[in-house]
Amino acid sequence: MMSGFNYLKALVLPVMLLVAVTGSGQSSQKSLGELQEIAERIHSKYLTVDTHNDTALHINNPKESSRITKGQVSFPLMREGGLDAALFAVFIGQKGRDKASLDSAFNYVRDNLSRFRSYVEDYPGGAIAYNSDDLLRNKENGVLSVMLAIENGYAIGDDISRLELFRDMGVRAITLCHNEHNNICDASMDKGGPEHNGLSEFGKEVVREMNRLGLIIDLSHASTQTLSDVVKLSTKPVIASHSGVYAIKNHNRNLKDNEIKAIADAGGLIQVATGRFFLSELPKDSVTVAHIADHIDYVKNLVGIDHVGIGTDFDGGGGVVGMENASKMKNLTIELLRRGYSEEELAKFWGGNFIRFLKHQNL
Ligand SMILES: [Zn+2]
Repeated sequence: MMSGFNYLKALVLPVMLLVAVTGSGQSSQKSLGELQEIAERIHSKYLTVDTHNDTALHINNPKESSRITKGQVSFPLMREGGLDAALFAVFIGQKGRDKASLDSAFNYVRDNLSRFRSYVEDYPGGAIAYNSDDLLRNKENGVLSVMLAIENGYAIGDDISRLELFRDMGVRAITLCHNEHNNICDASMDKGGPEHNGLSEFGKEVVREMNRLGLIIDLSHASTQTLSDVVKLSTKPVIASHSGVYAIKNHNRNLKDNEIKAIADAGGLIQVATGRFFLSELPKDSVTVAHIADHIDYVKNLVGIDHVGIGTDFDGGGGVVGMENASKMKNLTIELLRRGYSEEELAKFWGGNFIRFLKHQNL
């Protein structure tokens, strides 16, 4: 869906662009240059967080990962884009569910986590963040934050004790499943019918243990029934770290209105993904930052600014025209300013919401 505004933009650029900014309740006309200045100030003043990328695998295994990753995130790119922090997920694609395959998946993730940890520790301007205080302190000190995550609970196989082991390695969030059902739950993209009909018995144990450990439960990729089961069972708010809006783009990976409401009602976050297939039907060259903003607007209008943010999925299929990599994050701020988002709303969207969310996890 191309917005009317975007069409206008295509006509008038590069001539000075005049738009209404109504954030403080007053209407004012601002040029692109003025909007860029405001965006600079917002990014330097407030914490900015991207809740999902798949960059760790790219850094650990550049050859293996070259099919999908493009090197969209690096510390220099983050600095250029005014992005202070990101959840870097170690992704594990699903293979067999026999004991040998599960053990091999666990070993792979453990190995990749420790290699990626060493990479971050050796980088002078970056640090691993474990909680909200770390994120805020790193921001103060001009240090970029890496929060460790795992994409696909398949990594723990059927062994609950691996949750604590991963947490001790610094992991703070786990996406319960990827595109296929695993031992924990049903996935939204699995080609077969439901296997557990939501969370399995083991999955229920996993949710309780993640709550106990202060591990963030990420429901991107989960089936509708899984999402509903988890929201009911979890004593802590949950996140969809990289998901779009189904009402805008009918895609099984996207969240329906009742799913968005369930997450928000329980104090959680919907972090809009930037993969073009989740955003729009349009061809690659026509999907832009405006489409990301359409999904953000939708979530904001449905459940409020307190429950929306961004999860780029960079190096995992994310990125559109105008937000090709982490150096372009300010373009999103500019687009949201054009749509009348106030400074206070942008502060929440970029990091304030995530800090509040972490505090609810005792992180
Ligand atoms: Zn994903």
